[in-house]
Amino acid sequence: MNNIISIRPTEEVFSITWMIGRRCNYDCMYCPTELHDKVSKHHDLVKLQEAWKNIYKQTSAKQLTYKISFTGGEVTANKNFLPFVAWLKENYNISSILITTNGSAGLKYYEKLTNYVDAISFSTHTEFMNEKIFFEKIKVLNRLMIRPKKSLHVNIMDEYWAKERIKLYEQFCIKNQISFSINEIDYNKKTREEVLKNGQSNLEI
Ligand code: SF4
Repeated sequence: MNNIISIRPTEEVFSITWMIGRRCNYDCMYCPTELHDKVSKHHDLVKLQEAWKNIYKQTSAKQLTYKISFTGGEVTANKNFLPFVAWLKENYNISSILITTNGSAGLKYYEKLTNYVDAISFSTHTEFMNEKIFFEKIKVLNRLMIRPKKSLHVNIMDEYWAKERIKLYEQFCIKNQISFSINEIDYNKKTREEVLKNGQSNLEI
């Protein structure tokens, strides 16, 4: 498996960005093919554990703790991801686990995940997201990810076709004291011109 983007030693921790796989249940028009597809196989639990053991073998002599940022594809689309992070936290000296997700997994799934991860970044993707379900979930989870120990953040993707919706997302986050940022999009590697309308514009404040 050669999906690890970087292993960067710092004074206190090893900081690792780990792309767990390209597979994603969404297909955002601006997302390059090297970052997502709908066909690649999910890595099984044993393979993920072996990959970690290999990293650990090469880095444990420094006796540092680890900070691991998981990205995809969509990390939650792999059913082995939750057991994998649980196994990591239970068996290794991991100071923090951070994940980026499109928010499409169920509330119960994320509630379980909050036991093992320290920071969750949710990204809005209006071509596919159901706004109401997405933001209601975040409202609940924001109460579980309490700072300074834990954190939750919403990356509002600055999609040119969704400017009005984005204003609403901002208002929702402000009203509910949810950390957010408006994220600029690079359209240079877009995979199509057409903007799909598979999402639900149903958020009201
Ligand atoms: S949800 Fe993320 S990984 Fe999936 S297609 Fe959209 S931008 Fe790419």
